[in-house]
Amino acid sequence: LSSVVVVGASLAGLHAARALRHRGYDGSLTLVGAEDHRPYDRPPLSKQVLAGTWEPDRIGLGSSADDDLDLTWRLGQAATALDVAGRTVRLADGDELAWDGLVLATGAAPRRLDDGGRAGVHVLRSLDDCLALRADLEAGPGRVVVVGAGFIGAEVAATCRGRGIDVTLVEPLPVPLGRVLGDDVGTVLGAVHRDEGVDLRLGVGVDAVEGGDRVERVRLSDGSVVDCDVVVVGIGVTPCTGWLEGSGLALDDGVVADAACRVAPGIVAAGDVCRWWHEGYGASLRVEHWDHAIGQGTHAGEALLAGDGAEAFAPVPWFWSDQYDRKIMLAGRTQGADEVRIVDGSLEDRRFVALYRRGDQVVAALGLNRPGPLARWRLRLADGVAWADAVDA
Ligand code: FAD
Repeated sequence: LSSVVVVGASLAGLHAARALRHRGYDGSLTLVGAEDHRPYDRPPLSKQVLAGTWEPDRIGLGSSADDDLDLTWRLGQAATALDVAGRTVRLADGDELAWDGLVLATGAAPRRLDDGGRAGVHVLRSLDDCLALRADLEAGPGRVVVVGAGFIGAEVAATCRGRGIDVTLVEPLPVPLGRVLGDDVGTVLGAVHRDEGVDLRLGVGVDAVEGGDRVERVRLSDGSVVDCDVVVVGIGVTPCTGWLEGSGLALDDGVVADAACRVAPGIVAAGDVCRWWHEGYGASLRVEHWDHAIGQGTHAGEALLAGDGAEAFAPVPWFWSDQYDRKIMLAGRTQGADEVRIVDGSLEDRRFVALYRRGDQVVAALGLNRPGPLARWRLRLADGVAWADAVDA
């Protein structure tokens, strides 16, 4: 390889670039990023930066070690088209970049509601999103409706409560995160929000976002109306593959890669945009976690160099979320679990480890304020753990 282009200048893309250099790649290395910013960490956007306790200069990912990477940055430039046969990427300004190695790391973009373009309605994915929302919160007094009690919505609700703001959290499911974590664990998380003063509305959707130029209220599917000054929409993301339509690459809720993160000869993918074959689970997955973007980005960079000899990427997914004084950690995959059992602590104490069983195996472990045990579960799950060995019968 002599000219590698990385599309998506964030966590996965940067780690692919680092891996390429660390493995001795010495050709040209260009990072194309739609945002104006160099790579930064997103987790603090719903936590410390939104809370106002950190300023954006705390979250930059660049370190002085990266100065030696000899990267060419094309920031504020979205890639708009890919020519696989001709081996070029077109940028928004019309430039074409030639490549003989390509990393696809364009992440995902938040889904939106039909809000009539009203001011005061936010999503939260980028630093710019975060600063716009923060400015709106600071303008006060502010009553916030958060739509969606997934991890991002729940963190935004917690951070807003920390700022003393009235929060209504609207979730269509009867139990927040019930589908991912099971009803018992989801019920505890919902109770934590209620105890912190969140008006949690379960089993209802948003029918309309209303107001003038600015949002004034939200109409819910049960007929109720919630007056508000700010709405934050956290209803999930869509992988950024629009620019790959027509390229001939397989797209299926993400760009489709094989077990080693290879998409096509000379093309790899990583991070939130990548749907790859996880050999350990025997399933095609797309994972939206910080730690995963680092690991898969690194793997993809190595796989680009290794080509046919690339190894499979099959880690145990790992994720954390901070809400109030609670730290939620999840290792493994809860999908399709047959049973959830508390093995350490209790739901009442809101401090526990929950294990998820599928067949006769432990497939995931969730910790609420149990970071030490969860770190150990993460390691154990990588080797496979029989349910019978993990729990008292
Ligand atoms: P992204 O970080 O989304 O980066 C993709 C980049 O590609 C973006 O800069 C985008 O602008 C750019 N791009 C998109 N399309 C194009 C194009 N056509 N051309 C050029 N560039 C393009 N994970 C956890 O494990 N724990 C947490 O607590 C946690 N908190 C989070 C809080 C927030 C608010 C958010 C948004 C995410 C959080 N995450 C968390 C998830 C984690 O940040 C993501 O999984 C991670 O950022 C994914 O990295 P990525 O590089 O794959 O994609």
